[in-house]
Amino acid sequence: MAVATDREYLLFINGESAESSGGEAKELVEPATGEPLAKVAMGTEADVDRAVEAAQGALAGDWGRTPGPERSRLLHALADALLANRKELCELEARNVGKAISSVKAEFFQGVENFRFYASAIASIAGRANPVGGSLLYYSLKEPVGVAGQIVPWNYPLMMTTWKLAPALAAGCSVVLKPDSSTPLTALRMAELAAEVGFPPGSINVVPGPGKTIGSYLVKHPGVDKIAFTGSTETGAQIMRDASDGIKRLTLELGGKSPNLVFADADLADAIPSSVWSIYYSAGQSCEARSRILVEQSIYDDFVAKFSEAAGKLKLGDPLDPETQIGSLISTDHRDHVHGYVERGREEGAEVVQGGKASDGKGAFYPPTVLTGVDTSMQVAQEEIFGPVVTISSFEDEKDAIKQANAVRYGLMATVWTGDPGRGHRLARRIKAGTVGINMPYSAFPGIPFGGYKHSGFGRELGIDTLELYLETKSVIVSTSSKPFNPFGL
Ligand code: NAD
Repeated sequence: MAVATDREYLLFINGESAESSGGEAKELVEPATGEPLAKVAMGTEADVDRAVEAAQGALAGDWGRTPGPERSRLLHALADALLANRKELCELEARNVGKAISSVKAEFFQGVENFRFYASAIASIAGRANPVGGSLLYYSLKEPVGVAGQIVPWNYPLMMTTWKLAPALAAGCSVVLKPDSSTPLTALRMAELAAEVGFPPGSINVVPGPGKTIGSYLVKHPGVDKIAFTGSTETGAQIMRDASDGIKRLTLELGGKSPNLVFADADLADAIPSSVWSIYYSAGQSCEARSRILVEQSIYDDFVAKFSEAAGKLKLGDPLDPETQIGSLISTDHRDHVHGYVERGREEGAEVVQGGKASDGKGAFYPPTVLTGVDTSMQVAQEEIFGPVVTISSFEDEKDAIKQANAVRYGLMATVWTGDPGRGHRLARRIKAGTVGINMPYSAFPGIPFGGYKHSGFGRELGIDTLELYLETKSVIVSTSSKPFNPFGL
């Protein structure tokens, strides 16, 4: 099916598309062209109430009675439906986000695999029966936490939706998902496809709307048992506060300022193109973008020259062109925000050796940009820029490299490039980050836990343990004795 850009997208509640009770709709534009894309209904508090009620109804009804093997079959069926509709979903995502279609396709296939991974992982959901001695028999039951409120950002709307939905549904939770109001299209299509393949009404609900009102209302909603959030550290802190009164179960996947360490003994033929990919993929709008490159002093000048040359060769342009490597940023406002950081870097004394100037025109494009002469105290070295901007600094030795790598409040990901395997493993233990890559740029695979240390959040996605974050453990203790207990001796 082709992308219907004149279509009005509605909310998805209780197994069907639903009008917003407030009648409000948002006009979406394509960030790469500034042209209109689609109209999407914006949810209200009353719509969140309806969605939560539907999710509770699903747990009390058909969905709550759906056994693991059937949930597994449904997850596989949804993966098949995504594949059957891949052209539409990938184009929709590329046009909505401005992201290069080649990147969207990679994220799409990972999304499909997430459903398959958790479809299989359902088989691992099992209680225990520890020997407790005497006449007592103990066993545990694993039960879904209940209604999961899930909030996702704009940078990977399709893939993040699969990261959130797959483990929650595998565990048997029902979901109210709130996508970012500017990028809700693929999540809404996914919910439609889920209903078509047989997910019962109310098991998946999608309510787009502004975070500060609808998102916050969802977090505080007494009918929601767990919140899973991906977004900025500042919003994560607010969500923690908002979730506290209701003692909500909480997982937070937050921001990053991840280091990429290059030692003099590294294979530069691999380290340079991989380091270019690690920051500029998705135009740098990735939580785990390796936005701080730290290079051993003896190879610093050579590395900067070769890295900048490679960055300058990247192909920016039409997100739908298969040759494009970098699409646009999410909006012209965000492009200006990113450029503001480059200007601040200049004021702080950094040198712009590549890029650093927004292109003219309606599209939100920004070129791959390299800042050198940066030290860890500078704002550009500490704050998440969330655009195609990298800082390159030098280190003296291994000790100094570790010190600089850890000198930020974030701890999501780190990559180490070295020809010494022992050093790679030593650094993996000393760097405070949820994932460390050694001579390998990639960050997220179905089956490998992904998440943060420090201000990058807590809880893990993509792993088998993620299921535990959507499950409660209930202990059942049984007496097998024929004698009464009579604890008070009455
Ligand atoms: P954001 O925090 O502004 O928004 C994220 C989502 O939260 C959106 O859906 C938004 O509407 C909603 N929201 C905003 N305020 C809210 C509130 N008070 N209560 C409830 N919901 C609220 O983040 P963003 O700018 O959209 O996304 C970029 C951020 O996400 C970056 O910091 C990036 O690093 C982070 N991110 C992290 C991961 C990860 O896995 N760690 C992955 C992708 C993005």
